[in-house]
Amino acid sequence: MSVGQNEKNEKKINFKENIQYLQERELHEECGVFGVFNANNASYLTYYGLHSLQHRGQEGAGISTVDENGKIKRQRAEGLVSDFFTPKKLDQLDGKMAIGHVRYSTSGGGGLENVQPILIRSHRGDFVVAYNGNIVNALELRTELELTGSIFHASSDTEIIGHLIQRETGDFKTRLLKALPKLEGAFSFLIMNKDELFAIRDKNGFRPLSIARLEDGYIFSSESSAFNMIGASFIREIEAGELLRISKNGLKTCKYSEEINKTMCAMEYIYFSRPDSDINNLNVHVSRQKCGELLAKQSPTKADIVIGVPDSSLSAAMGYAKYSKIPYEFGLVKSRYVGRTFISPTQAKRAEGVKMKLSAMKSVIKDKKIILVDDSIVRGTTSKHIVQILKDAGAKEVHMKIASPAIISPCFYGVDTSTSGELISNTLDAKQLSEYIGADSLEFMNTENLKKALGNDICMACFTRDYPTKTYNLLKH
Ligand code: SF4
Repeated sequence: MSVGQNEKNEKKINFKENIQYLQERELHEECGVFGVFNANNASYLTYYGLHSLQHRGQEGAGISTVDENGKIKRQRAEGLVSDFFTPKKLDQLDGKMAIGHVRYSTSGGGGLENVQPILIRSHRGDFVVAYNGNIVNALELRTELELTGSIFHASSDTEIIGHLIQRETGDFKTRLLKALPKLEGAFSFLIMNKDELFAIRDKNGFRPLSIARLEDGYIFSSESSAFNMIGASFIREIEAGELLRISKNGLKTCKYSEEINKTMCAMEYIYFSRPDSDINNLNVHVSRQKCGELLAKQSPTKADIVIGVPDSSLSAAMGYAKYSKIPYEFGLVKSRYVGRTFISPTQAKRAEGVKMKLSAMKSVIKDKKIILVDDSIVRGTTSKHIVQILKDAGAKEVHMKIASPAIISPCFYGVDTSTSGELISNTLDAKQLSEYIGADSLEFMNTENLKKALGNDICMACFTRDYPTKTYNLLKH
């Protein structure tokens, strides 16, 4: 290609649309937690654990340890784990017990004061809290606590549990057991005082949390893939409604609630979790492949190749190709060096960066009828952009297959799915949406097939509006 031709092609790029695409509000997870009990270099282990959970939140990271004198130490910052934690900082966090957190801010907004672990100072003993999820009755609880004298330092709802514990009487575990039933919604907590570490999962088990063994110690993580990173052996998941306490006297477990109603978030399988994580004994990659196979059975289309949108849709695309016997191809390349601005939650921060995120493999795409598999559609502008770059690369036809049902309602359990009004499937049906994004056809996976792939104990509220808990006034906002 001559220099002149190159210039001509560059002029064809619609920079305005690309910026819009990069600014689009995608699905975002709200945090990951990691904990260590009785292991040397606990801060370093937590660093590696948080690094492997970085996809669950990129806005802030923090680590707390308990040193040999029982003093709680803490370091936290806005930004990525690897940007802030240096060996010098990790050495300052001495001790054999640690909890850590990576944050994506939806509830409470950004700012250092909201970066976890949150430290609660008390004459009965300090403690730190890290959590993943969203408390649906946070507003009610916070209002009640403030009206009766509690003072909050940050705007996120993590402090609520701290205040609730403070108000109770008895030893720490007793106070915790009295406080937890007041919380409604999704939460996987790691809470640490100078002697004990607690791992707690809400009674619906919305967010994952597992325990593993490392020599004489124990490791906790939002995702099991983080155990592999440090050579820990998976033991089991923390059960829905379980409070697990670990101290020098060993490991003890009990239920904080008897009203168990297991509804693991379907989006953990579809989009958030790493493919090498297992949830409820089901590997995430395998579950996505199964979704792809069921989608191929549900929605067959003649085509030359199947491609997936990197990274979370590749397993589903492989499944679609396997069942349909249409060759799987490598059709889209994702930039490895997507800056932090692209994954920051606020519109202003997203607007800072202007770079391409995906590009098409022209030699693979040109003159082909393509099955394009994606995991979900939120506002539609991403899909529109991808279809456009495939057509620009010479695709003859693009048939879009979505490996989950249409998202029609917001999530109140810790996932930023946008508001009802921003969800494109709230206003357009599949045919209209296909036209809007410029595809030749579009089909979503149905809810029956999603259940076949993931089992019955899942939350599908963003697809069905059937929320497994009370939603208080959140649906009105
Ligand atoms: S509403 Fe959707 S995103 Fe939220 S927990 Fe349920 S399945 Fe997950």
